[in-house]
Amino acid sequence: MSDFRPDQAGLEHAVRVLLERMQHRGSPHVAPDAADVSLPRQLPEIGIGGGAALDALAQIAFADVSRLDHPGFLAHMDPPTPWYTWAAAMWAAATNQNVLHPDTAPAARALESHVVAWLARVFGLSGGHMVPGSTVANLTALWAARELTGATRVVTSEAAHLSVVKSADILGMECVQVPVDDKQQLRTELLPPDLSDSVVVLTAGTVATGAVDDLHAGQGAAWRHVDAAWAGALRLSSHTRALDGIETADSVGVSLHKWLYQPKGSALVLFADAERAHEAISYGGGYLAVPNVGLLGSRGSSALPLAITLLAWGRQGIAEQIDAGMAMADELADLVTSDAELELWHRPCTGVVNWRPVECDPESVRERMTGAWVSTATIDGDRWFRSVAANPLADPRTVVSAVKETMNGSRREN
Ligand SMILES: *Cc1c(COP(=O)(O)O)cnc(C)c1O
Repeated sequence: MSDFRPDQAGLEHAVRVLLERMQHRGSPHVAPDAADVSLPRQLPEIGIGGGAALDALAQIAFADVSRLDHPGFLAHMDPPTPWYTWAAAMWAAATNQNVLHPDTAPAARALESHVVAWLARVFGLSGGHMVPGSTVANLTALWAARELTGATRVVTSEAAHLSVVKSADILGMECVQVPVDDKQQLRTELLPPDLSDSVVVLTAGTVATGAVDDLHAGQGAAWRHVDAAWAGALRLSSHTRALDGIETADSVGVSLHKWLYQPKGSALVLFADAERAHEAISYGGGYLAVPNVGLLGSRGSSALPLAITLLAWGRQGIAEQIDAGMAMADELADLVTSDAELELWHRPCTGVVNWRPVECDPESVRERMTGAWVSTATIDGDRWFRSVAANPLADPRTVVSAVKETMNGSRREN
């Protein structure tokens, strides 16, 4: 079928549609019930052809989406990606290499080893592999830990990501959640005294507030894992001190599709002794030329967009980008503290700002807000806005103005 040969006119049309749609500023948020997926109820009997199908779904692909690059989008841990990064993801999709097989993807495998080695070094660890997210990174690390140490228990904080609890469940391990202090950091004095049968999971950048646990905690544990899904990127910035101690971990997970601006499905699991860890979670299959390491079978080359981003920026460029995110979070915090109608939870330490109107319910303000978007989090039973500085094109003033306008609007209505 000729559909398997690139059609230049068709591809040019697809790219033209993409460019036109992306040039519109779009909306920082589309409510789930406002998005319109108008498709036939049943799988259509007769196809309409690739070009027409692209046009038919352009609305869903580009219009009914929250634009992560909108100046008012200061919400989730999801960044926009640089244009050459998503272009590289298109390249990887075009050749559809399977990193599982050296046979079909020799260079893609070598590229992944190479960039993983670059980043492992940054964390002071020996190596690891790419996974689709920190959910899988956490599960993989705890799996290796259980195999190598025989640990039966996971000890983490109450502010840990749900994937840590989920991993313990899957692995048949008990999960103990230790209380946190008023800054959402694990209270190390409440760790069980004997950790010899435990994997301690510390968080570098909790999902609600970006808090970083004492990354030296849990000495004496059978294994120490750091979930650095969000804040791991700081290791490449000028704020490395925020992650002091991460280099002493047995394993670390980092989501590159968060603060390293990668397309979804890009993360790392790193180990102090990668060779030993990989051996513990490897399977050989008759048809496989090399052992299958970790949880996944077939997978694509997420190393290609990553390598292109790292080459484009270099270490200095990455640092500047992440430092700018930290500065943006500070700017938002300053705007909030200088406004008597707004309050700040604590100064941000890893680019996550929790704030809210003093007198209005944050959730009801958010629902009615236009032109900007924030996420929310519950901290100690209270609802707060959560603004994550993952969007380099965000303008904190736009977000604060939108919140204030909505607040003042609701006051007039009362
Ligand atoms: C986002 C996040 C995860 C999960 O990572 P995914 O890449 O979404 O799978 C785990 N832990 C923390 C602290 C996170 O912020």
